[in-house]
Amino acid sequence: MLSPMTNAWTSSETLTGCMRRKGIGRRDFLTYCAEVSALLGLSSALTPRIARALENLKRPPVIWLQLQECTGCVETVLRTSNPSIGDLLLNTISLDFQHTIMAAAGDAAEAALHDAMRENRRDYVLVVTGSVPVKEDGIYTIMAGRTARTVLEEAASSAAVVLAVGACAHWGGVQAASPDPTGAVGVAEIIKNKPVVNIAGCPPIADVVTATVIHYLTFGRLPELDSE
Ligand code: SF4
Repeated sequence: MLSPMTNAWTSSETLTGCMRRKGIGRRDFLTYCAEVSALLGLSSALTPRIARALENLKRPPVIWLQLQECTGCVETVLRTSNPSIGDLLLNTISLDFQHTIMAAAGDAAEAALHDAMRENRRDYVLVVTGSVPVKEDGIYTIMAGRTARTVLEEAASSAAVVLAVGACAHWGGVQAASPDPTGAVGVAEIIKNKPVVNIAGCPPIADVVTATVIHYLTFGRLPELDSE
């Protein structure tokens, strides 16, 4: 397993350099790019473009918020036992803020979140897992004295892209089941002023999460979305 807190992809290093350091060969890299093209429903003719965009890529900033959830999505996406380029992209880059895997806690974690938002304003990918409780002014999830809704709205306001990962972030998930004591809703119910990509599944397929990020990094825009 890759440890997200050690051997991390440094901000001055390209993806190619990081892969070399981790012993991932070019053949594996190109195979991965072809798989991502297929996963995204893109023509195989676009594989070289994806490869070109990724190999010179510097570590993109990612902030990952966990709201009302079970940590299953995080485990699925980050805790693979088979290190790959996908792991590099979503395991070792998710260091700007991810409260399950980061060493910091309390005030230090809160400071890390605000530093990451300030330093990467309008530039970071915001990944959200978990639903947002809205009943009783959102008191059912409080993070450093603020409701999950407030934290989400603030983080989304400066994000380049918002990904709602898993059923909970998509539509409320198991917390929204009757009698729905917390008034659980999905991210898109709260964030209305920018597109939210819903990546369904409980938990979602990790490669779909990575492929969505790769599409954004390669083409500078999100993949085409359906109405849900
Ligand atoms: S979508 Fe499923 S795995 Fe993910 S946080 Fe919700 S309950 Fe857990």
